[in-house]
Amino acid sequence: MKMSNKLRLFKNLCFFGIAILVLQACGSTKTLVTTGKTSVVAKIDLINVVDDKVNVVLDPGAFARDTISFFIPKTVPGTYSDDNYGKYIEQFKAIDYKGGELKVDKLDDNTWRVINAKDLDRIDYWVNDTYDTETEVDEHVFSPAGTNILEGKNFMLNLHGFVGYFDGLEEIPYSLEIIAPNGLEPVTSLTKGIQDVNKPETDVFVAKRYFEVIDNPIMYSKPSTETFQVNDIAVTLSVYSPNGHFTATSLKAGMEKMMRAQKAFLGEINSTKHYTIILYLSNMDDNDATGFGALEHHTSTVVVMPEQISKERLEEAIFDTVAHEFFHIVTPLTIHSNEIQYFDFNDPKMSMHLWMYEGTTEYFANLFQIQQGLITEEDFYQRLMEKVERSKTFDDRMSFTVMSNNILEEPYKDNYANVYEKGALINMALDINLRELSGGKKGVLWLMKELSKKYGDSMPFEDDKLIDEIVAMTYPEIGKFFNDHVIGEIPIDYDKYWEKVGLLATEQEQSTGYFFDGEVPYIDVDPSNDNAIFVREGIQLNSFFNNLGAQGGDIIKSVDGKITNLVNIRLLIGQSINWDSDKEIVLVVQRGDEEITLTGKVGIPTLNVVKLVSVDGASDKQIELREAWLNG
Ligand SMILES: [Zn+2]
Repeated sequence: MKMSNKLRLFKNLCFFGIAILVLQACGSTKTLVTTGKTSVVAKIDLINVVDDKVNVVLDPGAFARDTISFFIPKTVPGTYSDDNYGKYIEQFKAIDYKGGELKVDKLDDNTWRVINAKDLDRIDYWVNDTYDTETEVDEHVFSPAGTNILEGKNFMLNLHGFVGYFDGLEEIPYSLEIIAPNGLEPVTSLTKGIQDVNKPETDVFVAKRYFEVIDNPIMYSKPSTETFQVNDIAVTLSVYSPNGHFTATSLKAGMEKMMRAQKAFLGEINSTKHYTIILYLSNMDDNDATGFGALEHHTSTVVVMPEQISKERLEEAIFDTVAHEFFHIVTPLTIHSNEIQYFDFNDPKMSMHLWMYEGTTEYFANLFQIQQGLITEEDFYQRLMEKVERSKTFDDRMSFTVMSNNILEEPYKDNYANVYEKGALINMALDINLRELSGGKKGVLWLMKELSKKYGDSMPFEDDKLIDEIVAMTYPEIGKFFNDHVIGEIPIDYDKYWEKVGLLATEQEQSTGYFFDGEVPYIDVDPSNDNAIFVREGIQLNSFFNNLGAQGGDIIKSVDGKITNLVNIRLLIGQSINWDSDKEIVLVVQRGDEEITLTGKVGIPTLNVVKLVSVDGASDKQIELREAWLNG
């Protein structure tokens, strides 16, 4: 999964009407309990939508048990959060062979127990979508894992939101029969089943087991689809753009170039023969998706982005995001532990290796761009420094393995987004260590290739043995690195790594705006506090705010005697472009319970940024190590 780290900010600040920046914007062998039919047939009706809901009927065949539990997932792989998709299920009915209703006990948000299951013919329920309710529900489903029901226009079938499973029947095959309005076409990596000639309007899909159902989202929309070949992989790109701003054709060339570079970077490591990119562009209104980013699957990804941005910005965001998702094929989709292989959708056990599942993935999504010449060295260093900067807004002393094991609970949950920041930096440090110890020959990509040769996608590793195994494959120094910085709580001294490769982090002053640095604001809006405008926390402030004595978290009550609200702040931002540096300003801010008046000249706003630069007179050894790191 990859989520935009400016997620909330983005939604809140779009009222400014500025061009918006999207910062990257992420089998068991149970005995069967059925007799008779050996598959579950799921019927989904996308034509007769009622009150924005879709009807689903599941026919499981006959049961030999008195009671059977039916589940909708609480969580799905890759999201690392409890989302309770059962909350979106309504009018749940268990129907017997005579058409009567059987008694059902609802055990929790996601579990229904059917009594007299021997008489059960079918389950019938209605599904509400998650996109509609994102602004109402506090901990809403991340859009790329969510569902959309937009009658006649778009259906995002992340199937864990539509189709459930019966206790003990996760491993039996599924057949999906979907009827959809004329003009809407499905895009998915799911295998097509045999079409019934008498029902031409029904699309049939088949899956070998429940996992395969949810690993293959389907989007129905008016077709805007392109395909291209990247070596031996057939890639399908499908785009839903409600106002027609973007098409698959307009985004194809850039996507193809990017994926070719990824494949060149990976070499022989993956074996996928087809890959589907489902891109959903949101209107950004109250009933539309707001969680920008993507979720990985074995042979596809769902990407959600805003529609109202420039092509350049959209491409930048989707390339970084799709690159990340595609690299998930390496881990966890290939290299993963038992916890993931035998994923329990309603009582998941978390692996301790998010440093790898998300960290290595995110690191590769940046490293391949420099190795394949898509970005400059300067861009790459800037990305690393941004990660260092953002990682400091999280608990740098939190053990990454402990956090990973407990990621569904606080305080670990709150640090989740650090898997994209420090998680990537752990891999950078590991990469430089490995290159140094192997005379430039081996790095993290080599390590992943070795691990994938050893395990492949159907053989999981034992969670608590992986690090020992990596140490055994490499060097004792790598064991110390893991013990100190991944298992242990010692922050990584990045300067030490810059020095190894002849780089130096130096602070430089650069010009910025009063309220925005480029398109990234210094202020934000708090919708939960009457749209109070506040100075953002956890970011570096510019000289304007610093010289006035403002602090992150200060609520701006008034400026020059004018009460601050959404309208006034927008005006002020517009006016600030013409401010003279000698202009005096009076800001009244609320800090905790106190009101403080801040006064001073607005000055010429500057921002101190830390830049990574190459050291004059770096040794041959340092330069060789840098070359090995950046060029692979
Ligand atoms: Zn991810």
